[in-house]
Amino acid sequence: MHIIDLLVLHKIAKKHHAKKLLKEGHVRVNGEIITDNIDVEEGEVYCDDHQLDLHPLKYYMINKPAQYICANRDDKDPCIVELMPRKDLHIVGRLDRDTTGLLLLTNDIKLRKRLTLPLYHIEKTYQFTCLHPLTKEEVDKANEGVVIDDNHLCECFIQMKDEKEGYITIHEGRYHEVKKIFLSLNNKILSLKRISFGHLELGHLQEGEYRHLSDDEIATLR
Ligand code: URA
Repeated sequence: MHIIDLLVLHKIAKKHHAKKLLKEGHVRVNGEIITDNIDVEEGEVYCDDHQLDLHPLKYYMINKPAQYICANRDDKDPCIVELMPRKDLHIVGRLDRDTTGLLLLTNDIKLRKRLTLPLYHIEKTYQFTCLHPLTKEEVDKANEGVVIDDNHLCECFIQMKDEKEGYITIHEGRYHEVKKIFLSLNNKILSLKRISFGHLELGHLQEGEYRHLSDDEIATLR
Protein backbone atom coordinates (compact mmCIF):
# COMPACT_ATOMS: atom_id res chain seq x y z
CA MET A 1 0.00 0.00 0.00
CA HIS A 2 1.26 3.54 -0.77
CA ILE A 3 2.47 5.60 2.17
CA ILE A 4 -0.05 8.42 1.69
CA ASP A 5 -2.93 5.92 1.63
CA LEU A 6 -1.56 4.36 4.85
CA LEU A 7 -1.42 7.75 6.57
CA VAL A 8 -4.96 8.55 5.48
CA LEU A 9 -6.38 5.13 6.43
CA HIS A 10 -4.75 5.34 9.85
CA LYS A 11 -6.44 8.74 10.21
CA ILE A 12 -3.07 10.36 10.88
CA ALA A 13 -3.80 13.04 8.29
CA LYS A 14 -6.08 13.95 5.41
CA LYS A 15 -4.51 13.46 1.96
CA HIS A 16 -3.08 16.96 1.58
CA HIS A 17 -1.51 16.99 5.05
CA ALA A 18 -0.26 13.41 4.56
CA LYS A 19 1.71 14.54 1.47
CA LYS A 20 3.25 17.30 3.56
CA LEU A 21 4.20 14.95 6.43
CA LEU A 22 5.89 12.66 3.93
CA LYS A 23 7.82 15.47 2.22
CA GLU A 24 8.92 16.84 5.60
CA GLY A 25 10.55 13.52 6.56
CA HIS A 26 8.15 12.23 9.24
CA VAL A 27 7.94 8.74 7.70
CA ARG A 28 10.48 5.94 8.16
CA VAL A 29 10.46 2.60 6.37
CA ASN A 30 12.70 0.00 8.02
CA GLY A 31 14.48 2.79 9.88
CA GLU A 32 15.17 4.94 6.81
CA ILE A 33 13.49 8.30 6.21
CA ILE A 34 11.42 8.16 3.01
CA THR A 35 9.99 11.20 1.21
CA ASP A 36 8.51 9.53 -1.90
CA ASN A 37 5.05 7.96 -1.94
CA ILE A 38 6.37 4.43 -2.38
CA ASP A 39 4.33 1.24 -2.30
CA VAL A 40 5.28 -0.76 0.80
CA GLU A 41 4.41 -4.47 0.91
CA GLU A 42 6.27 -5.47 4.07
CA GLY A 43 8.57 -4.18 6.77
CA GLU A 44 8.15 -1.59 9.51
CA VAL A 45 6.63 1.77 8.71
CA TYR A 46 6.53 4.57 11.25
CA CYS A 47 5.12 8.08 11.12
CA ASP A 48 7.03 9.75 13.95
CA ASP A 49 6.42 7.33 16.89
CA HIS A 50 3.32 5.76 15.41
CA GLN A 51 3.76 2.33 13.76
CA LEU A 52 1.47 1.81 10.77
CA ASP A 53 -0.26 -1.52 10.17
CA LEU A 54 0.48 -2.35 6.51
CA HIS A 55 -2.88 -4.09 6.16
CA PRO A 56 -5.29 -1.58 7.67
CA LEU A 57 -8.31 -2.77 5.70
CA LYS A 58 -10.15 -5.42 7.71
CA TYR A 59 -12.86 -7.81 6.56
CA TYR A 60 -14.88 -9.98 8.93
CA MET A 61 -17.91 -12.20 8.85
CA ILE A 62 -20.00 -12.81 11.93
CA ASN A 63 -22.87 -15.18 12.56
CA LYS A 64 -25.38 -12.60 13.73
CA PRO A 65 -27.50 -13.71 16.67
CA ALA A 66 -31.19 -12.73 16.78
CA GLN A 67 -32.01 -9.58 18.81
CA TYR A 68 -28.86 -7.75 17.68
CA ILE A 69 -29.50 -4.87 15.32
CA CYS A 70 -27.37 -3.89 12.35
CA ALA A 71 -26.29 -0.49 13.64
CA ASN A 72 -23.19 0.98 15.24
CA ARG A 73 -25.10 2.57 18.13
CA ASP A 74 -28.56 2.35 19.60
CA ASP A 75 -30.09 3.52 22.86
CA LYS A 76 -32.18 0.44 23.56
CA ASP A 77 -31.05 -2.56 21.50
CA PRO A 78 -27.73 -4.41 21.44
CA CYS A 79 -25.76 -3.61 18.27
CA ILE A 80 -23.80 -6.11 16.25
CA VAL A 81 -20.64 -3.95 16.38
CA GLU A 82 -20.50 -4.58 20.15
CA LEU A 83 -19.56 -8.18 19.35
CA MET A 84 -16.65 -7.16 17.10
CA PRO A 85 -13.00 -6.61 18.07
CA ARG A 86 -12.98 -3.03 16.73
CA LYS A 87 -15.51 -0.25 16.51
CA ASP A 88 -14.65 1.31 13.14
CA LEU A 89 -16.48 -1.32 11.08
CA HIS A 90 -19.34 -0.80 8.65
CA ILE A 91 -22.04 -3.36 7.94
CA VAL A 92 -22.45 -4.62 4.38
CA GLY A 93 -26.07 -5.58 3.67
CA ARG A 94 -28.18 -5.38 6.79
CA LEU A 95 -30.21 -8.16 8.38
CA ASP A 96 -33.41 -7.68 10.36
CA ARG A 97 -33.23 -7.91 14.13
CA ASP A 98 -34.81 -11.39 14.17
CA THR A 99 -32.68 -12.70 11.27
CA THR A 100 -29.52 -14.65 12.08
CA GLY A 101 -26.52 -15.68 10.00
CA LEU A 102 -23.83 -14.34 7.75
CA LEU A 103 -23.11 -10.66 8.10
CA LEU A 104 -20.12 -8.93 6.57
CA LEU A 105 -18.32 -6.05 8.30
CA THR A 106 -15.42 -3.99 7.03
CA ASN A 107 -13.65 -0.67 7.35
CA ASP A 108 -13.13 -0.69 3.55
CA ILE A 109 -15.63 2.05 2.80
CA LYS A 110 -15.13 1.89 -0.97
CA LEU A 111 -15.90 -1.83 -1.12
CA ARG A 112 -18.88 -1.46 1.17
CA LYS A 113 -20.30 1.34 -1.00
CA ARG A 114 -19.93 -0.74 -4.14
CA LEU A 115 -21.44 -3.90 -2.66
CA THR A 116 -24.49 -2.05 -1.40
CA LEU A 117 -25.28 -0.25 -4.67
CA PRO A 118 -28.79 -1.31 -5.76
CA LEU A 119 -27.46 -2.30 -9.18
CA TYR A 120 -24.78 -4.55 -7.76
CA HIS A 121 -26.62 -7.85 -7.54
CA ILE A 122 -25.09 -10.36 -5.18
CA GLU A 123 -26.71 -13.73 -4.56
CA LYS A 124 -27.74 -14.20 -0.97
CA THR A 125 -29.15 -17.47 0.28
CA TYR A 126 -31.29 -17.85 3.39
CA GLN A 127 -32.52 -20.88 5.23
CA PHE A 128 -36.14 -20.32 6.26
CA THR A 129 -39.06 -21.76 8.14
CA CYS A 130 -42.51 -20.55 7.13
CA LEU A 131 -45.93 -20.74 8.76
CA HIS A 132 -47.89 -22.69 6.11
CA PRO A 133 -46.74 -25.58 3.93
CA LEU A 134 -45.62 -24.51 0.43
CA THR A 135 -46.82 -26.71 -2.42
CA LYS A 136 -44.65 -27.56 -5.42
CA GLU A 137 -46.99 -25.42 -7.61
CA GLU A 138 -46.52 -22.42 -5.30
CA VAL A 139 -42.74 -22.85 -5.34
CA ASP A 140 -42.64 -23.17 -9.15
CA LYS A 141 -44.79 -20.06 -9.53
CA ALA A 142 -42.68 -18.07 -7.03
CA ASN A 143 -39.52 -19.05 -8.90
CA GLU A 144 -40.89 -17.24 -11.96
CA GLY A 145 -40.98 -14.01 -9.94
CA VAL A 146 -43.00 -12.53 -7.06
CA VAL A 147 -44.48 -9.03 -6.99
CA ILE A 148 -43.65 -7.05 -3.84
CA ASP A 149 -43.84 -3.34 -2.92
CA ASP A 150 -46.98 -2.89 -5.10
CA ASN A 151 -45.41 -3.52 -8.51
CA HIS A 152 -41.81 -4.64 -8.14
CA LEU A 153 -41.12 -8.03 -9.71
CA CYS A 154 -38.67 -9.77 -7.47
CA GLU A 155 -36.61 -12.70 -8.71
CA CYS A 156 -36.06 -15.51 -6.27
CA PHE A 157 -35.20 -19.18 -6.21
CA ILE A 158 -36.87 -21.33 -3.57
CA GLN A 159 -35.92 -24.92 -2.81
CA MET A 160 -37.88 -26.82 -0.17
CA LYS A 161 -36.30 -29.17 2.38
CA ASP A 162 -39.67 -30.23 3.71
CA GLU A 163 -43.10 -28.65 3.49
CA LYS A 164 -42.36 -25.64 5.75
CA GLU A 165 -38.57 -25.37 5.56
CA GLY A 166 -36.23 -24.56 2.73
CA TYR A 167 -33.76 -22.21 1.09
CA ILE A 168 -34.42 -19.00 -0.79
CA THR A 169 -31.89 -17.12 -2.93
CA ILE A 170 -32.38 -13.46 -3.80
CA HIS A 171 -30.20 -10.95 -5.66
CA GLU A 172 -31.37 -7.57 -4.47
CA GLY A 173 -31.14 -6.19 -0.97
CA ARG A 174 -34.62 -4.74 -0.58
CA TYR A 175 -35.93 -3.94 2.86
CA HIS A 176 -37.62 -7.06 4.35
CA GLU A 177 -37.37 -8.66 0.90
CA VAL A 178 -37.79 -12.31 1.91
CA LYS A 179 -40.56 -11.53 4.38
CA LYS A 180 -42.43 -9.56 1.72
CA ILE A 181 -42.04 -12.40 -0.80
CA PHE A 182 -43.70 -14.77 1.66
CA LEU A 183 -46.46 -12.29 2.45
CA SER A 184 -47.16 -12.10 -1.30
CA LEU A 185 -47.46 -15.87 -1.24
CA ASN A 186 -50.05 -15.57 1.57
CA ASN A 187 -47.53 -17.11 3.93
CA LYS A 188 -45.26 -15.87 6.70
CA ILE A 189 -41.58 -16.25 7.58
CA LEU A 190 -41.07 -17.66 11.07
CA SER A 191 -37.28 -17.88 11.01
CA LEU A 192 -34.60 -16.65 8.65
CA LYS A 193 -30.86 -17.33 8.60
CA ARG A 194 -28.47 -16.08 5.91
CA ILE A 195 -26.10 -18.90 4.95
CA SER A 196 -24.27 -17.34 2.01
CA PHE A 197 -23.40 -13.96 0.54
CA GLY A 198 -21.91 -14.13 -2.97
CA HIS A 199 -19.16 -16.75 -2.70
CA LEU A 200 -18.92 -16.44 1.07
CA GLU A 201 -20.39 -19.24 3.16
CA LEU A 202 -21.31 -19.15 6.82
CA GLY A 203 -20.10 -22.73 7.36
CA HIS A 204 -19.81 -23.80 10.99
CA LEU A 205 -19.43 -20.35 12.54
CA GLN A 206 -21.53 -20.36 15.72
CA GLU A 207 -23.96 -17.55 16.57
CA GLY A 208 -22.03 -14.57 17.97
CA GLU A 209 -18.68 -15.85 16.57
CA TYR A 210 -16.72 -13.88 13.99
CA ARG A 211 -13.70 -14.53 11.82
CA HIS A 212 -11.43 -12.70 9.35
CA LEU A 213 -12.10 -13.33 5.68
CA SER A 214 -9.26 -15.08 3.85
CA ASP A 215 -7.45 -13.28 1.02
CA ASP A 216 -9.24 -15.54 -1.48
CA GLU A 217 -12.61 -14.66 0.03
CA ILE A 218 -11.79 -10.95 -0.11
CA ALA A 219 -10.76 -11.32 -3.76
CA THR A 220 -14.23 -12.71 -4.63
CA LEU A 221 -15.80 -9.47 -3.40
CA ARG A 222 -13.69 -7.23 -5.60
N1 URA B 1 -35.06 -10.37 3.89
C1 URA B 1 -35.76 -10.12 5.02
O1 URA B 1 -36.98 -10.05 5.00
N2 URA B 1 -35.07 -9.92 6.16
C2 URA B 1 -33.74 -10.00 6.26
O2 URA B 1 -33.16 -9.84 7.34
C3 URA B 1 -33.02 -10.28 5.08
C4 URA B 1 -33.71 -10.46 3.91
